[in-house]
Amino acid sequence: MTGEHVVYRNEVSHRFARAELLRRWRAGEVSRDEVCDADFLLVTAAQYHGVPAGHVCPVCESDDLRIVQWIHGEQLGRMAGTARSDEEIARIVASGREATVHTVEVCPRCRWNHLLTAVTATTR
Ligand SMILES: [Zn+2]
Repeated sequence: MTGEHVVYRNEVSHRFARAELLRRWRAGEVSRDEVCDADFLLVTAAQYHGVPAGHVCPVCESDDLRIVQWIHGEQLGRMAGTARSDEEIARIVASGREATVHTVEVCPRCRWNHLLTAVTATTR
């Protein structure tokens, strides 16, 4: 870490929706194509900007599951909608801007992906 002070607030967890989708997939209610729909950009971002998830893919059990953070927000200009590391997010909020950070789980092998949390990153 770079030492800048980042405060994360208003976290919204999407883990229940993730578990529910996986339950429906296991029950045969949704197809693998429907749950494994990461596009090229998302898979590429996960490979180059993501970090290891620390657990296997819930769909294909690959151990290359990645966690990638996307930033959004009116104050971000051209940086909105890009993948960023913790250090980059710390620098962005240290410059006085606020960002919404979407943490997404992505499997480069089977293209499973799901939003885990959405949180506001700020300095206060
Ligand atoms: Zn997978």
